Amino acid sequence: MKLAEARVAPLWWDAVDASVTRASLDRDLSVDVAIIGAGFTGLWTAYYLKREHPDLSVVVLEKDHVGFGASGRNGGWCHAEYPLGIGVLAHDHGPSEAVRFMQALHATVDEVGSVMADEGIDCHWAKGGVLAVARSELHMDRARAEVEEAQHFGLAPEDVRLLGAAEARGMLGATDVVGGTWSPHGAAMQPALAVHGLAQACESRGVVICEASAALEIGAGKVATAGGTVSASMIVRATEGFTSGLPGHKRTMVPLYSHMVATEPLSDDLWAELGLDNRATFGDFRNLIIYGQRTADGRFAFGGRGAPYHFGSSISPSYDGHDRVHKEIVRVLLELFPQLSDAMITHRWGGALGAPRDWRPTVSIDRRRGLAWAGGYVGDGVATTNLAGQCLADLITETKSDLVTLPWIQHKWKTWEPEPLRWVGINAGLWMAKTADASEERTGKPSRWGDVGNWLRGKTR
Ligand SMILES: Cc1cc2nc3c(=O)[nH]c(=O)nc-3n(C[C@H](O)[C@H](O)[C@H](O)COP(=O)(O)OP(=O)(O)OC[C@H]3O[C@@H](n4cnc5c(N)ncnc54)[C@H](O)[C@@H]3O)c2cc1C
Repeated sequence: MKLAEARVAPLWWDAVDASVTRASLDRDLSVDVAIIGAGFTGLWTAYYLKREHPDLSVVVLEKDHVGFGASGRNGGWCHAEYPLGIGVLAHDHGPSEAVRFMQALHATVDEVGSVMADEGIDCHWAKGGVLAVARSELHMDRARAEVEEAQHFGLAPEDVRLLGAAEARGMLGATDVVGGTWSPHGAAMQPALAVHGLAQACESRGVVICEASAALEIGAGKVATAGGTVSASMIVRATEGFTSGLPGHKRTMVPLYSHMVATEPLSDDLWAELGLDNRATFGDFRNLIIYGQRTADGRFAFGGRGAPYHFGSSISPSYDGHDRVHKEIVRVLLELFPQLSDAMITHRWGGALGAPRDWRPTVSIDRRRGLAWAGGYVGDGVATTNLAGQCLADLITETKSDLVTLPWIQHKWKTWEPEPLRWVGINAGLWMAKTADASEERTGKPSRWGDVGNWLRGKTR
């Protein structure tokens, strides 16, 4: 498996026009709602605002092009996941609110699928669920604990269930599988097709999207860009991993990089061994997250965290191709599936996702200042952005729905530490996760470094 010939670009972008194709803002405008960022958060918010309130005027300002950020580059797992798990939600808000939130997330997966179908967006949607394989007894302990925790706090047995070795191996032909978990609340999709289709669905309802129109300054009721200023009763910040680039937000959220590779399309014979017949998305129980899907055209799209955090929360296209991280992702892919040793890697890429200091996503509004924002999904935003968009639309229009009282509304983030502490702390956390995985693989016993990493992220209960 060679990386050298792989193109540094998201596989998904082969199927869309990933360049600036829309006009940029070239005059002053006055609208009801101005949204900054044309990723899933911004576009879902625009979509629900216009679908439910066609008279509202909505403009989306995007600094690059639709789907330039994480929304056009991700692993295509549309799944119901809270970054710190249901136990932390229950600790923060009580078990019944935790279950209510998780049920809203479960429903949002189907909502994404049905909007894609209703709007005629072919994003290669396949609701095959989410598979996590256990590849050691330690992993199996974690699988049992996860299922017990979900049921303890009130999720139904069918929301996530334990798999024995035979069933798990039947789903995924990876090495050393001894069991796992499966949840029906997840779909695989082609994210760039989804985000571009959603942008068109917004435009067909009258949303104006301006590309190459970076928000430079956000003031009371105004967003300034190089080409003009938008005055709006409500301004929505939907910039996730890029938030630290906005004036006054250096320490609101950090950009963490996640990287992926894609193989060439694999033969049917190989897939007969590899499984994923229903295109379940898959991962495992190591500390440093890995994630994969079988694409509609029969490739593996496979990724992992672990790239270094860049000093000063910097983001650069030069970080997208990271030789060391991509080699490590290929090593893990081959460890799981040695049959792929002759397969070609055709694409490799990376992107920034947003992490708030306490790892808790939120949807919030400040009516006095005419500002709203959502984000902090820490790499679990493909479905969650849909729920965020629905919540933001209801909050902005003062619709009294069940969504506007979900426990993530108006959560207040702590700010990140100033540099160089931020750089030291985050990279130390990544080192701990890697060290924990290496030690657990060697000894089969849980590593304390994993616990320290959890504590640093605020996963305490
Ligand atoms: C490699 C990778 C794999 C991932 N895999 C998964 C997965 O499988 N499942 C999952 O649930 N999540 C995954 N995620 C996370 C998920 O993609 C994100 O949580 C989600 O897409 C966030 O959407 P968003 O709209 O909030 O942010 P983004 O998609 O990042 O959009 C923000 C937009 O704001 C724009 N912007 C920034 N600054 C400005 C400005 N000043 N003015 C105007 N526009 C601006 C950016 O250009 C960008 O287009 C992954 C992320 C990455 C990077």
